Amino acid sequence: MQLSEIGEFGFIDRFSGKFSGLLQPAVHGIGDDCAIMPLDDQFEQVVTTDLLIEDIHFLKAAISPFDLGYKALAVNLSDIAAMGAQPTGSFLSIALPSDVDVEYMDEVMNGYHQLSEKYKVPLLGGDTTKSPGKIIINVCVTGKVKKGEAKLRSSAQNGDAICVTGFLGDSGAGLKVLLDGLTPDTNSKKLVSWHNKPEPAVDEGLWLGKYSGVHAMMDLSDGIASDLGHILQKSDKGAIIHLEKIPISPELQQTASDNQWDALKLALTGGEDYRLLLTIDSEKVNPIKEAYNKTFSHPLSIVGTITNKPSGEIQWKKSGKLVPLHKGGFNHFSP
Ligand SMILES: [Mg+2]
Repeated sequence: MQLSEIGEFGFIDRFSGKFSGLLQPAVHGIGDDCAIMPLDDQFEQVVTTDLLIEDIHFLKAAISPFDLGYKALAVNLSDIAAMGAQPTGSFLSIALPSDVDVEYMDEVMNGYHQLSEKYKVPLLGGDTTKSPGKIIINVCVTGKVKKGEAKLRSSAQNGDAICVTGFLGDSGAGLKVLLDGLTPDTNSKKLVSWHNKPEPAVDEGLWLGKYSGVHAMMDLSDGIASDLGHILQKSDKGAIIHLEKIPISPELQQTASDNQWDALKLALTGGEDYRLLLTIDSEKVNPIKEAYNKTFSHPLSIVGTITNKPSGEIQWKKSGKLVPLHKGGFNHFSP
């Protein structure tokens, strides 16, 4: 059997159960944005790791070395943010071909350092080794969160409002601008910038994490159509999503209309948004949303509702009517 037949999550399922018996009580292992371990009387430690491989996760010609370093840390800080945790340190391991320019790597580290400085996250160690060809970057980030207050994927409750921070699809659209070789204008430059240098929602995650009315939370890395499935699976719940409520930035609207792209499809499936997806108690969502929108420069949007059944399934609605999702994608969502 080839890996492509079962995919990333099918592969993880084949071994993750074997390790669950090794877990100490109060330790959460595989299956959330971060692992959680006891730290002291007041705090728990959260840990995440992510791998970036040249030509799979980034194209050297399409991202500056500064942005590459920034993004390598950003995608990990995003997982810390998803727990409502404060980042505390990072580890960086890199495999490099021996002919890589030192000046190129200096810039990678300048980008990594700028984001480290922004959130006061020290680089604590790592490893550097030779690669036979491509650049490989692995980052591990630690964080801390008050005991019992980490936001889990498994905490969604029936009737919760499903919310997202910021706009969806900008990163996927930015990648499309790069791959299609478009000459960037003011709007599409912003999309490319979000793709290459995403801003992790560290402050937003910490802010939201303080509310007990915020139940489940995760970051959006693969697109809401796929990521929401993880919350539903872990929480044993279903969901209704109202497509007209999906927040799309003015830049994506304009670029999509200029190039005849389906902005909604990019927003649902584009991936690498690194925004937060969360569920909030329906009685508490309005004041939280109002306070959020006063605090941050981008909106918190309510896009749907958690349901008891059918478990694991998303019902997509447009103007109140069910819209079928075909395996091939979202083409059928067009009016
Ligand atoms: Mg994540």
